[in-house]
Amino acid sequence: MIKSIILLILAVATSVFSQPSVYQDNGTVSNHDDLVNVSKDDEKLKKSFIPQNLKDDLNPITQYSFEPWHLRFVGVEAAQVIMVRKPSSVQVQELVIGMGGDVSLSRPGSDQLDSNGSTLNRFYTWEQMTEDLEKMTAGNDLNFMNLESVVSDQSLKAISGKKYPQKSHPHGVKHLVNKVGFNLISTANNHAYDYGDAGILETLKHLATIKSRAKVAISGLGNLQETLEPEIMDINGFKVAFIALGMKGDDRPDWESSWRPTLEKPGMLSVRHCEDNTFEKAMSPCRQYGDLKNALENLKAMKADLRIVSIHEGMELSVYTKNGSKPDDDSGQTANGQQRQRSENRNLEAKFNLIKSYGVDLILGHHSHNARPVEHNKNTLAFYGLGNLLFLGGKNYSTDSYPLWNQYGLFAKSYYSMIDGKAELSAVQIVFLKNNHIQPTFWGKEKVSLFTDYLNQASLKSLGDKAVKFKAKGDGTAVYCVNKIKKGKKAKALCP
Ligand SMILES: [Zn+2]
Repeated sequence: MIKSIILLILAVATSVFSQPSVYQDNGTVSNHDDLVNVSKDDEKLKKSFIPQNLKDDLNPITQYSFEPWHLRFVGVEAAQVIMVRKPSSVQVQELVIGMGGDVSLSRPGSDQLDSNGSTLNRFYTWEQMTEDLEKMTAGNDLNFMNLESVVSDQSLKAISGKKYPQKSHPHGVKHLVNKVGFNLISTANNHAYDYGDAGILETLKHLATIKSRAKVAISGLGNLQETLEPEIMDINGFKVAFIALGMKGDDRPDWESSWRPTLEKPGMLSVRHCEDNTFEKAMSPCRQYGDLKNALENLKAMKADLRIVSIHEGMELSVYTKNGSKPDDDSGQTANGQQRQRSENRNLEAKFNLIKSYGVDLILGHHSHNARPVEHNKNTLAFYGLGNLLFLGGKNYSTDSYPLWNQYGLFAKSYYSMIDGKAELSAVQIVFLKNNHIQPTFWGKEKVSLFTDYLNQASLKSLGDKAVKFKAKGDGTAVYCVNKIKKGKKAKALCP
């Protein structure tokens, strides 16, 4: 009797002082959709009598959040609410990853950067630049970008021979992390060392500050040990391992070796590093890759539900991953040019095949500044090129004076379900972007079916039956649904 009284007092106290949790839509608990025949009065009851601090776990047999024995904590009124709850299936744990390509906030030709934004015809604040980008990143668990720039507010001297050195103000990068929500970042690319060792140190310093204040995984630059070590993140019930590698560009093996990290000196690994310590050139591929293979071994050894590799490689302004650069063929090239293009594509394919052979779940390719094919086979989702995301050093390609394939960058979202302890891809959504040179925004729906067809064709021509076939939707996006995979709520909304 005394025990019952104590329990009753506890129950009343808890219901008065705590916030409701059972009806919150947190992905594991049934929500309003699961209530049948709930009158307004029931709704009122629900609000006033929601039990507090009860275990959120669904009972696997009854599919109720809590059991009749809870009634003594809850009171009879709330019990009515419970009893009208219809059994629902257990909700699938879900992870959503947003992905964009190249980002540089550099003001071309200027060493002096503004801390609040950048000028192109007029001044754009960071907020103005990312207004629509925030709509794409909102609500995702992870958001990826390739930070293709040194991060510094200092006056620095670019290395000799570098055509378009990139330098972004730290405030802009902070904005992208803290406001726009990028928390999966690659720094491994052919602009990371544009300002030599001093630039690398500056970038590392600013990113360390950002990382100390935000939950963010950054991979690419560091000493040998750091660059070979995948980043790991626990998010939404998924353990995600991530590593980023790139090349230093322009077919310059001397650059590939100059900024390679040692145990003491920071730098960047190279996907063109061969096992025998030489460096790949377009026309002389590695027999075995060195840095890439070592990184993949480490990634494979990590205990993780999802493994992600970011790779900055491939030929600029090239669409297909097989023969040919420009949209349809390379016949306009000289014999040497053709050979080189074909060789570069072959080398890119070899690297993607190696990454896939390690069972990597997601490959994020970039560098070509335009979108390239998308592949899905039973283990891996692979983007061969995400294109530009927010690249201030680039031109405005979003006009009819450029070919179709040049007019858009991609922002993609991949959806994963946790099924029997295994992460499975359930859906992919893409958004076609324009104005990537200053203020990325959505292309109107009239262009979306055109771009979707084009991307599908490019994927099919390069990848055959592994090509992803997106379906254009009326809302300006395109979607790929993976059949026979249990979907979480967000994927279900895309793929009913
Ligand atoms: Zn690049």
